[in-house]
Amino acid sequence: MSGSIKDKIAEIIKNTGADGCVECGKCVAVCPMSEMYPDFGWEMSPRGVIRRTVMGADILRDPMIWRCTGCNAGTDVCPEGVSCRDLVRNLRQLALETGGAAKVRTCELCGAPFLPQPVDEYVQGRLARSNRDYLDTCPTCRQRRYLGRNA
Ligand code: SF4
Ligand code: SF4
Repeated sequence: MSGSIKDKIAEIIKNTGADGCVECGKCVAVCPMSEMYPDFGWEMSPRGVIRRTVMGADILRDPMIWRCTGCNAGTDVCPEGVSCRDLVRNLRQLALETGGAAKVRTCELCGAPFLPQPVDEYVQGRLARSNRDYLDTCPTCRQRRYLGRNA
């Protein structure tokens, strides 16, 4: 891992408060991934991802950063103000920039990457077949389209 990537990860850790994690596990208790994925465990949990990031693991190539839904539930309950959502979001962005990314669905309107494959597969499995085009656009474009239709 190059020095500049290490610096960027250090900045992400600082900005998301990840180095303040006391490993209490409150975020794990509310994380929806425990119900979404049968292989959920410490490695996938926000606590595990935070720990490995802070300990300097090769987190940009860690497949577990692509499992999070971005729900923010863990952030809401964290006594230390750590944002698991922002940590993962920023790590993914950096992974995309440095070529370490998993497959991610891109928006057909703006081209932005927005839905990692594991979350995509889960949502596809839950959506009725008739609603699957819902996933063709990112939340921002979806909202814009909705507001345009209802203006
Ligand atoms: S709730 Fe906060 S302090 Fe507790 S394990 Fe999760 S990130 Fe760490
Ligand atoms: S933002 Fe991600 S890691 Fe945090 S509680 Fe939600 S799904 Fe879990």
